[in-house]
Amino acid sequence: MSFVEALIRMSAFAEFQRERDMIHYSCDLCKRELDPQDDLRYVVKMEIFAAFDPSSLDSEEQDRDHLEEIQDILERLEDSSSEEIGDDVYQQLRFDLCPECRKKFVKNPLGRETAKAFGFSSN
Ligand SMILES: [Zn+2]
Repeated sequence: MSFVEALIRMSAFAEFQRERDMIHYSCDLCKRELDPQDDLRYVVKMEIFAAFDPSSLDSEEQDRDHLEEIQDILERLEDSSSEEIGDDVYQQLRFDLCPECRKKFVKNPLGRETAKAFGFSSN
């Protein structure tokens, strides 16, 4: 097998792997398997990071430095794994949702108790 031939085989395999991986999505909320042919899949991305209050810093100059620092951290996070930085500082979450769960999620993204749960229906 020539080197080029080996390369072609490798990339074909990678393509196959990627396609196979794509089939195995399921809704993170109701656990329903999502068929890429029939089902729309929604991706929810959440970023949770510690907010630094600018007024707690000594001067405006430091304030600017601090923001750049955070920007730096966030940029570095894009290529490295987030393990270096604790979950309490920065956390990125990703969920796959089916169309029905997407609707539910949008209505109540923070999972708050609904008005119904507070007994609004009692009067
Ligand atoms: Zn669902």
